[in-house]
Amino acid sequence: MITLENVTKIYQSSNGSVTAVDDVSLHIKEGEIFGIIGYSGAGKSSLIRMLNGLEKPTKGNVIVADRNIANIKGKELREARQEIGMIFQHFNLLWSRTVRENIAFPLEIAGVPKEQRLKRVDELIQLVGLQGRENAYPSQLSGGQKQRVGIARALANNPKVLLCDEATSALDPQTTDSILDLLVDINQRLRLTIVLITHEMHVIRKICDRVAVMENGKIVEQGEVLQVFRQP
Ligand code: ADP
Ligand code: ADP
Repeated sequence: MITLENVTKIYQSSNGSVTAVDDVSLHIKEGEIFGIIGYSGAGKSSLIRMLNGLEKPTKGNVIVADRNIANIKGKELREARQEIGMIFQHFNLLWSRTVRENIAFPLEIAGVPKEQRLKRVDELIQLVGLQGRENAYPSQLSGGQKQRVGIARALANNPKVLLCDEATSALDPQTTDSILDLLVDINQRLRLTIVLITHEMHVIRKICDRVAVMENGKIVEQGEVLQVFRQP
């Protein structure tokens, strides 16, 4: 579903260049939950931003759902990004819009007609368990509810891949577990491929099938979670 081939990302700044991702190759299978763990500065965000085309690799190929997104732009990139949903640590919701309007937003952008949109939003609200909160504003929701809105919005256009950028890092442990349970449920029900980055071992242990450990822009170890984090 996702293949990275010798991907390098170098940022140029006034005080020189930083190699954030250093010759990374990786294969993520359809339907799996794949975790990328590492300390702050390891290159995780740069990697995940390349997976949805927000950032271009300096070198290498990024193939998502059979399409090399490394060097495409404009309409082609927008099409490719329909296959990829993303959720964020700080939710990135539209604060002046209700739950329903937030979830409908990507459908509006995709030009889905109103009737179909309303139907799809209702399905999504059921899927993430936000019944009764449709007309609330983000400021009236708990952290966990905000992330449920984020998930519903990310899934609106039926992506093949869901990218999660520290999606539970702003949540307390109990809420984290309920969001992780929801991700597993969605993974199984929709056969959705999920890639998540985190600095929390607990998150990896709880839901990931396989994991890659990042350090200084490189993947230093990868494999089945039980194997990589086996108890001595
Ligand atoms: P992580 O998500 O694991 O914390 P990042 O990908 O954010 O890692 O960062 C990896 C390295 O790249 C860090 O040294 C960071 O300072 C640098 N970096 C990230 N984004 C930029 C940018 N836009 N410009 C310059 N350097 C950056
Ligand atoms: P939580 O309570 O879960 O931490 P917050 O309500 O504090 O979530 O919001 C998370 C992020 O959204 C913060 O970075 C905050 O600055 C930003 N934010 C909150 N309210 C608004 C708003 N009305 N408009 C724009 N950004 C906002």
